[in-house]
Amino acid sequence: MNVVIIGAQWGDEGKGKIVDYLAKDAKYVVRYSGGPNAGHTIVVDGKQFALHQVPSGILYSDKKVFLGAGMVIDPEALFEELKMIKDNGVDWEGRVFISDRAHLILPRYRQMDKDRDASRKRPIGTTGRGIGIAYSEKAHRDGLRLADLDWTEKLADLEKEDLDYLDKYKEQLLQMRVDLTQKMWEFRKENILFEGAQGAMLDIDSGTYPYVSSGASCAAGAATGCGIGPHNLDHILGVFKAYETRVGNGPMPTEFNATSEGELCQYVRDTGREYGVTTGRARRCGYLDLVALRYACRVNSLDSLVLTHLDIYDAMDQIEACVGYEINGKIVTDFPANIDQLNSAKPILQKFSGWKTSLKECRSYKKMPKNARAYVEFIEAFTGTPVSIISVGYDRDETFIRKNPWKK
Ligand code: GDP
Repeated sequence: MNVVIIGAQWGDEGKGKIVDYLAKDAKYVVRYSGGPNAGHTIVVDGKQFALHQVPSGILYSDKKVFLGAGMVIDPEALFEELKMIKDNGVDWEGRVFISDRAHLILPRYRQMDKDRDASRKRPIGTTGRGIGIAYSEKAHRDGLRLADLDWTEKLADLEKEDLDYLDKYKEQLLQMRVDLTQKMWEFRKENILFEGAQGAMLDIDSGTYPYVSSGASCAAGAATGCGIGPHNLDHILGVFKAYETRVGNGPMPTEFNATSEGELCQYVRDTGREYGVTTGRARRCGYLDLVALRYACRVNSLDSLVLTHLDIYDAMDQIEACVGYEINGKIVTDFPANIDQLNSAKPILQKFSGWKTSLKECRSYKKMPKNARAYVEFIEAFTGTPVSIISVGYDRDETFIRKNPWKK
C-alpha cells in the first residue's frame, strides 16, 4: 500500500506535518519533486525542524527516506541540512538515499537563476536557489544527474569550478545513490509514503503558468519522479488550509484586499504564522478558494483531503469561502488558465458561522463544534472529495483521522 501526499493549494499547506504524522505507518518515505526551496516545518515535542530537501520521515529513526528522480538536489545545502538534523539528535546515516536519476544543482545556477528572474519583464519571484535553472538544464538535456558522476565523458565537459565543487561531495553522494526504480518495484507490497513539494496550483502543467515551480508538484509527479507506474499509486491525499496563502508573484483570486481586509489579513497571517520557513517572507493570505481546490481535486484524482489550520478561525464570528469568480461580468466556477482572467476575478463569497471555541484539544470529528463540521461538510460537498484528516494545531498530536488513508 502506498499513499501520495500533495499540497492542494499554492504550497505551505502543512504537508510536512501530515507527512510526519502518516509516516509512522510507512516503511519508506520518498520525496519526488522540487529542490531546496520547499520548506517543511515539523514540530515534535515542541522542537521545531525546518526541512528543505530531506523527506520528513527522517525524524522517525526506523524509516528509510529517498530523494527521487523528479527532484533537483543541491549537495551543499543537503549536507548542511543533514548536519542540522544530526546536531538535533537525529541519526541519519544509512537511512537517506538518492535516486541515481536525480539531477544536481551546481553553485553557478543560483546566480543564473537570480539574473534570469531579474531580466524578466514580469519576474516570477523565484527563491534564487538555482532550482529553475537545474530543471531547464534537464529539459535542455544538459543537466547533471547523480549517475553522471561516474560518466567520464560527461565529467570531462564540466568546468573546473564545477569539478572542484563536486569533488567535495562526490564520495558521500555516491554512497547514498540507489536505483530508485528498482527499489520501487522491490518495495511495492510495503507501505511507502510519497511526499510532494509545493502545491497543485504551482505545478508546471496544471498550475498558474508561468507563476509556477519548475517541477511536477501534481500527484502524477509521484509516478514520474520515482519510477513507479501511475496504476500503482493507491491513495492520493491533498493537503489544504482552511484559508489560502501564496508566496511570490502570480494570480491569487481570493487574496485579501490590503485596505478593506487588511485587519483580517494581518490576523490570519499572525495567528497562522504565515511567514516563509526558508525566506522569512510574509505570505500573501486570502479566503479559502473552493474553485481552485475543486480543480486541484479533479486534476490530481484526489481520493481524500486533509484540512489544516482550522484552528486559525477559532475566534472568528464569521468565516467566508470563495465558491465562484465574477470575471468580466460573468460567473465562472471552473479554474481558468488565462492570467488576465484570474487577475481580474472577483471572488463570490459564501458566509459560514464561526464556532467561537478552541479546537486545539479536539481529537474526533464528533466532538467538533457543529459550525466547524458544517464548514467541513460544505467543502466536501463542493469539491466532491471527503476530508479524511483534520489538523487543529501545529504539533504532531493536534490532528485526528476520520478515515485512515493506509486502509483500503
Ligand atoms: P508545508 O510546506 O506544506 O509543509 O507547510 P509549512 O511547513 O511551510 O507550513 C506549515 C506550518 O503550519 C508549520 O509551521 C506547521 O507547524 C503549521 N501547521 C500545520 N498544520 C497546522 C494546523 O492545523 N494549525 C496550525 N496553527 N498550524 C499548523
